[in-house]
Amino acid sequence: MTETPLVHIENLNVEFPLGRKLLGKPPVLKAVNGVSMDIMPGQFYGLVGESGSGKTTLGRAILKAVPISSGKILFDDGKVSYDLGTISQPDLKNYRKLAQLIFQDPYAALSPRMTVRDIIAEPLEVMEITKSREETDERVREIASKCRLNLEHLRRFPHAFSGGQRQRISIARTLVCNPDFVVADESVAALDVSIQADILNLLKSLQSQLGLTFMFISHDLSVVTHICDHVAVMYLGTLVESAPTRKLFSNPRHPYTKALLSSIPSLDPDDSKKAQKLEGEIPSPVNPPSGCKFHTRCIFAEDRCQREVPEWRELSQNHAVACHFAEKLASAS
Ligand code: SF4
Repeated sequence: MTETPLVHIENLNVEFPLGRKLLGKPPVLKAVNGVSMDIMPGQFYGLVGESGSGKTTLGRAILKAVPISSGKILFDDGKVSYDLGTISQPDLKNYRKLAQLIFQDPYAALSPRMTVRDIIAEPLEVMEITKSREETDERVREIASKCRLNLEHLRRFPHAFSGGQRQRISIARTLVCNPDFVVADESVAALDVSIQADILNLLKSLQSQLGLTFMFISHDLSVVTHICDHVAVMYLGTLVESAPTRKLFSNPRHPYTKALLSSIPSLDPDDSKKAQKLEGEIPSPVNPPSGCKFHTRCIFAEDRCQREVPEWRELSQNHAVACHFAEKLASAS
């Protein structure tokens, strides 16, 4: 029997019209373009790409924080199942408890006027999850200690804490509603490298303790490798490669993935010779290149790449790619 995905995404498009044009159609920003993926229960699913690749918009579409232009997002945790395109208001209220976001910047995400206790308790009160102050306090203490916060700190204000402690407060606030699914959007990007490892270990341990499923969004493949069991690579609103983490790192098939991997700093001096540098800027999603969107920066591009959109195809189990020459490039590297 095949397992049902917690989140199933099918040919998803998210577009934002950019004002009016007097003649012809108004310009449209295509933030997410034809994305399909399955996130399985208990998975730590990584989503990587440069800034402007559409990762954050995709994460927010799954949380129903931006409107879907077309396509499907289905959520099924075995107890409830929702189609986010047609979800009713009462179901959306329940979905907000089940699917939560950890913010990127722990300095901006916490109100300086609220105590840590009130910050963590706020979602319970807003969503009317607990029935009394005692119940709220008990739940706050429970999640704070799981997030390795000192209970004495609950009476203090955020300014008294370091970046890592603030991120733990932010994580506790996200998890206090007992969600099934969490989108962590660049959740360690604003922290020092030594603190990043601490937060990543905490997320991994919370995942197994609480049975969570994560979508971990990052521009940094070296961070993703430590924590995720599956990685999808996004470029200009589309998926270009998706595979279990080990497979993706040991046998990348898309030139964009290879370029991202070769940008990870290495202590081996020979690695710099093999590096495939990524030249130029990511093009505008308002006017993306024809054919393969990566052709303007791809060192392997041929004429066909400008004309034909590469098909999204599976090369081996769970390893899919969108490049006309994925087989040829793998044998050449
Ligand atoms: Fe490069 Fe062509 Fe493959 Fe696109 S389809 S990644 S341009 S080789």
